[in-house]
Amino acid sequence: MTVEAGKETLGFQTEVKQLLHLMIHSLYSHPEIFLRELVSNASDASDKLRFKALKQPELLESDPELQIRIGFDKEAKTVTISDNGIGMNRADVVEHLGTIAKSGTSEFLQQLSGDQKKDSHLIGQFGVGFYSAFIVADRVTVETRKAGEAEAVRWESEGTGEFTIEAIEKASRGTAITLHLKSDQEEFADGWRLRNIIRKYSDHISMPILMEKESMGAEEGEEEKKDEAPEWETVNTAKALWTRSRSDVKEEEYKEFYKHISHDFADPLKWSHNRVEGKLEYSSLLYIPAKAPFDLYNRDMQKGLKLYVQRVFIMDDAEQFMPMYLRFIKGVVDSNDLSLNISREILQQDPQVESMKSALTKRVLDMLEKMAKKEPEQYASFWAEFGQVLKEGPAEDFSNREKVAGLLRFATTHDDVVTQAQSLTDYVSRMKEGQEKIYYICADNHTAAKSSPHLEVFRKKGIEVLLLSDRIDEWLMSHLTEFDGKQFEDVGRGDLDLGKLNDEDDKKAQEESAKANEDLVKRIQNVLGDDVDEVRVTHRLTDSPACLVAGQNDMGMQMKRILQAAGQDVPESKPVFEINPEHPLVIKLDNEPDEDRFADLTRVVFDQANLAAGGQLEDPASYVQRLNKLLLELSH
Ligand code: ADP
Repeated sequence: MTVEAGKETLGFQTEVKQLLHLMIHSLYSHPEIFLRELVSNASDASDKLRFKALKQPELLESDPELQIRIGFDKEAKTVTISDNGIGMNRADVVEHLGTIAKSGTSEFLQQLSGDQKKDSHLIGQFGVGFYSAFIVADRVTVETRKAGEAEAVRWESEGTGEFTIEAIEKASRGTAITLHLKSDQEEFADGWRLRNIIRKYSDHISMPILMEKESMGAEEGEEEKKDEAPEWETVNTAKALWTRSRSDVKEEEYKEFYKHISHDFADPLKWSHNRVEGKLEYSSLLYIPAKAPFDLYNRDMQKGLKLYVQRVFIMDDAEQFMPMYLRFIKGVVDSNDLSLNISREILQQDPQVESMKSALTKRVLDMLEKMAKKEPEQYASFWAEFGQVLKEGPAEDFSNREKVAGLLRFATTHDDVVTQAQSLTDYVSRMKEGQEKIYYICADNHTAAKSSPHLEVFRKKGIEVLLLSDRIDEWLMSHLTEFDGKQFEDVGRGDLDLGKLNDEDDKKAQEESAKANEDLVKRIQNVLGDDVDEVRVTHRLTDSPACLVAGQNDMGMQMKRILQAAGQDVPESKPVFEINPEHPLVIKLDNEPDEDRFADLTRVVFDQANLAAGGQLEDPASYVQRLNKLLLELSH
């Protein structure tokens, strides 16, 4: 840090430097977005002041009309965006214009590939805000005074490694940002160009954006007019977008408004704009983003809606209006009933908020249902981005369990593709005559699920099975017991009961086989002892010699592994070992007179069943030893 005549020079946080560099290189093809970003910040600053002034009206000083002004100077090649909003003091400036507060930023930046096309998309999701000024400017000057404070500051930077900051005099409250345009961006110092950009990107801003009136070329004798105070005119619609009627708002306006509230650069996937009248009165405008934010699973992710009460901005990120599993929804809710003094704490207990939350949740689920039905491709892209989060729904939101279940998508044995494309409704419509349950299997990955021996009897009988392999799936299924009146059944646990899918002949054959193999089962039981809960003849295998089955109430393997990885104790449970007496290996086993060889062979088949289920052997060396012994005997 150097100090000269009250001027301090400070360095940007490393992340800011990286971001600036990347942004300038990847967003150069859309330079005009700088204006949208800076106007968006000016509007937020004004919203914040209006809210604070509810309690402290003196903050408005003698200047209560909140507005944004855009000026330019063709000769000096500058554009200036000024607001009379909340402003910043020295500490604010250093913090907000020198660092990035978002957690996970450096991890995010490391992910970038250096491929400008890809990165510009990612950076878009990240939101660059103020720093976008450096796309068009090689020097940016910010002069600002915080409402209610006397000291003002000037911040200046060339967007390389550092910035300067110094105290100044500033009579008017708020922030003025002057962009010294790069030589190839001078076209922005033009009234017509600026007006166009404002109308295109910032028309929805609810407060007036003013520009100086321009005459159509000064006529002779009008030169002296220059000394008069300039006349300003409003160039945007200046009405809160969500208060307008749906038919008056153009698609483009909805999209631009989304970018303003979400700091996303990409268009939203879908939105829903509504006004509710009756016991509760409020408007809402909810958006589904096209892409998941990089911090979707970060606990500090900004989530929730922008809350307004009677058009007055109250707070960002009001989390109480959306359940966690819909935390990716962006939007605005404007209530006529809540108090202007409402705080986050009160929001948490307010019964009105609770009923708004349940109505808004339904609104989002309806929007998704409609999309799934009418625009399946769009829904597939939604699912790819947010499906995992939606799977948290059944556990969190009991009342909408069935609705959320209807929105889930799965890979199944119907088409055997990795893509999660089948709905439960699809599944139910394909259920076989006599089938009462929805069958599923959980495994570590799709291939393991797809080739599990547990599916053999289902494939033989042509019964569809859901193939679950996401980390969250086992947990999801522990909260999802029914859909459309049909129970779910894990094909990898318990005593497989195919109900009416098994005919009398099947049942008879099973009973007979169990009886005929009683001795074999006992012999195996003796070898495995305490390692198994039970040995029995299988009803599920047709091609494999044996498999392991979890007890009906045991924790599944996937869940066990997650808990173990988290260093937690896992309740011990023993598997059931099922054998397929038709399989040549089991027949061989049955015919083995030598008890030692019988024991070796049994152990090998048992360990293999564990491996086939994606499990890990407790004593892999012994397995290899036994197998090698048997292999060597083969060659005799
Ligand atoms: P974001 O708007 O996403 O928070 P920005 O980089 O655009 O990120 O801005 C960083 C912060 O700087 C803002 O959150 C705000 O606190 C402050 N800021 C930016 N512009 C203004 C302004 N015109 N008036 C007051 N504060 C501002």
